[in-house]
Amino acid sequence: MSLTSSFYIKIEQQVSELLREAKITQAPVSVEHIAKTMGAAVVPYELGDEVSGVLVVEEHKGTIGYNSTHPKNRQRFTIAHELGHLVLHVNKNKPKELFVDKDFIVKWRYNKIYSPKEFQHEQEANAFAAALLMPKEFLINEMQKEKFSELTETRLIEELAKVFNVSIQAMTYRFADLNKFAYA
Ligand SMILES: [Zn+2]
Repeated sequence: MSLTSSFYIKIEQQVSELLREAKITQAPVSVEHIAKTMGAAVVPYELGDEVSGVLVVEEHKGTIGYNSTHPKNRQRFTIAHELGHLVLHVNKNKPKELFVDKDFIVKWRYNKIYSPKEFQHEQEANAFAAALLMPKEFLINEMQKEKFSELTETRLIEELAKVFNVSIQAMTYRFADLNKFAYA
């Protein structure tokens, strides 16, 4: 199962609007500020080893909890992922909803317990997180800078990961997705 190009176009538009509302014009994107603009609270939690983040939605207000022991870049991705659930997956007719995100490896191990729909939602939230933390326009702006012009692709991804406060792995995936969908 993979996401469609129309889904990518939709989230790129949603992200552009969120960035505009939050008046964020360059990297690194403050996920806390985006959450605040959306009226969602962000709090560190003791979540144990396996859970990276949670989203609770009650009476139309979202609260995101992230694992306080994880590295900073990981926390940023988790918060952006939960914002993805908030934008894409909250059923406004339900009085209360809870999303719990476990580590990827744990997730794969127990993959069988996820329905195809749940699994798709996780992929969608990850794609949203990537688009929010590494907006296409911001990437284009950075790549046009003189200091990056002579770098190999590997070095460029490493440098951009630093600028955007994301892992090298996240930046690599983002480029793969953009190559796949940018001109679809
Ligand atoms: Zn999730």
